[in-house]
Amino acid sequence: MGSVTYDFAGETVIVTGGSSGIGRAVALAFGGAGATVINADVRRDPKDVDADTPTDEAVDATAGRGEYVETDVSDPAALSAVVEAAHEFGGVDVMVNNAGWYNQASLFETAPEEFERIHAINAGGAFFGCRAAAADMIDRGVAGTIVNTASISSSHAQRDQISYDATKGGVKMITRGAALELADHGIRVNAVAPGQIATEFGTSVAEKEAAVDAGDMAKPIPLDRLGTPDDVAGAVLFLASDAAGYVTGELFYVDGGWQIY
Ligand code: NAD
Repeated sequence: MGSVTYDFAGETVIVTGGSSGIGRAVALAFGGAGATVINADVRRDPKDVDADTPTDEAVDATAGRGEYVETDVSDPAALSAVVEAAHEFGGVDVMVNNAGWYNQASLFETAPEEFERIHAINAGGAFFGCRAAAADMIDRGVAGTIVNTASISSSHAQRDQISYDATKGGVKMITRGAALELADHGIRVNAVAPGQIATEFGTSVAEKEAAVDAGDMAKPIPLDRLGTPDDVAGAVLFLASDAAGYVTGELFYVDGGWQIY
């Protein structure tokens, strides 16, 4: 099958939630493409069982350069601060609003403070991440790109994750609304919508694999495997690249076909 290489040399990429899982794979992929990558995460150490160095150090071992800025995406001022920090490297060209939080609870079980917290991280992180990056891109006259991490949950309800699903529905519409508002500035905004990806998010990788093997899913995955963080990273780099120059406001599923039926 064909292969593709991207060139982001000379560009600065911010990845929120870049310490682990999908964000780490995205950071490493941009590093491999020559970018300066700022990991904006609340914690520097990876959660992944097979990752032994912080993402910024791992990116330094690629063609790119890695940095870490401690960032809580539920705080809009922290997102503005990391965008400001990117000025040291020429300013943000690509913003990946990826950090996320999960809550498994029904309509009646979800505490008001947990509802607010998950919205502040997932929807607020995408909203204020888009705003901080876009304001800076407009000031600098840069037609940058933004990629948000949505989910199959942006469009499909799943049992006992009503608040999570609501936040990811929000990410879909934040992506579309921002794409509409920012098109005049040449700034494209898209989202990836991962399905079941092998990360320590919500449940462990082992539990997710067992659920797929047992057919214990709301619907089977047509490609019959969990996705990998690299599967998602490939889509993020495509959407951020010139190859997707006429794509904006798109929700790009990376789910092994889960949402087909
Ligand atoms: P993960 O837990 O491996 O990584 C999430 C990262 O976000 C962690 O490094 C964590 O420290 C960071 N983070 C959490 N709260 C933060 C905050 N307030 N500020 C900054 N950083 C914070 O999970 P993942 O699977 O890589 O998830 C990444 C994104 O992908 C999330 O938005 C998630 O909703 C989405 N997603 C994941 C799956 C999946 O199956 N894993 C499916 C669909 C969507």
